[in-house]
Amino acid sequence: NREWHLVSRPVGWPKTEDFALVEAEVPTPGEGQILVRNKYLSVDPYMRGRMSAAKSYADPYELGKVMQGGAVGEVVESNAEGIAVGDHVLHFFGWREYAALDARHAVKVDADAAPLSTYLGVLGMTGLTAYAGLLRTAAFKEGDAVFVSGAAGAVGSQVGQIARLKGASRVIGSAGSDEKVKLLVEEYGFDAAFNYKNGPVAEQLKQAAPDGVDVYFDNVGGEHLEAAIGRLNRGGRIAVCGMISVYNDTEPAPGPRNLARLIQTRGRIEGFLVGDHYDLQPQFVQEVGPWVASGELKYRETVVEGIENNLEAFFGVLRGDNIGKMIVKL
Ligand code: NDP
Repeated sequence: NREWHLVSRPVGWPKTEDFALVEAEVPTPGEGQILVRNKYLSVDPYMRGRMSAAKSYADPYELGKVMQGGAVGEVVESNAEGIAVGDHVLHFFGWREYAALDARHAVKVDADAAPLSTYLGVLGMTGLTAYAGLLRTAAFKEGDAVFVSGAAGAVGSQVGQIARLKGASRVIGSAGSDEKVKLLVEEYGFDAAFNYKNGPVAEQLKQAAPDGVDVYFDNVGGEHLEAAIGRLNRGGRIAVCGMISVYNDTEPAPGPRNLARLIQTRGRIEGFLVGDHYDLQPQFVQEVGPWVASGELKYRETVVEGIENNLEAFFGVLRGDNIGKMIVKL
């Protein structure tokens, strides 16, 4: 049973030496617990925040202890009612091969209904993030022009497609490679997309959104946020989901210089956390599940194999190696 420990708190970009892959005993499940052999592990940008000591919405990872994260696995021992050996469960004890946990911290998932990895992505946490952030926080309505950054990633690719399927007047995305931009337009049905590394975001957004944007779904922050405020239409809404462009900064980044435009536009900017929106989970699965099954909503996963590559997969998310959800397959 191998598991990843955080051994020192990264400063700036995390380094391999900040982590250790440790050999540990397979844990013994206690009363009311199950033993799970993990099959798929999630690596997500928010984990960078938990590697720092600063208190945030999730507690910092403890030094010298195994890290946590979303995972799907097979139950190999059960001392809990309602969960049997052979069941598959979604839980929060990732970054390890085996986990013993209280059954109440596990959610059963159906391996026949959808590929197991999708419970971490398109039908899981990142999917719900897209759904809740777009429909609830940004109060998307038919006819809105929507701009999403990080658009080829797990959350962003779903935001753009949900907006399209729900009648957006225009869907615009930005991503960090020409290959990703091509995918957005040719496969995901975005009306326009640009590579933010090819020139100033404000200029590229102006071209892509000649009539402005009504909704900006922010995954990136920084220059993207300022550019979106600059193109915001009257009554526009900005949902702040994440700001990955600053996660490895050691100094606070300068704020958008044009916030006063929110007055002129009567614009609204609001942050949200997916954890507050799990009441939408049944509605999300009911509405998005069939789109995924029919192929109207497409998704990609970038799958890295082996627990020994879990860390590299995480670094890959920060670098932009992934298209769609980054998954580690054990
Ligand atoms: P992604 O699958 O989008 O992966 C992260 C992507 O960010 C990379 O692929 C990379 O793509 C892009 N990126 C990295 N650095 C930069 C940069 N400097 N500027 C612009 N883009 C960059 O991850 P997720 O879909 O899981 O998460 C997307 C965002 O949503 C993150 O900010 C995350 O923190 C946030 N989030 C928030 C939640 C909430 O409850 N509020 C819940 C889940 C996620 P590229 O090649 O395009 O640069």
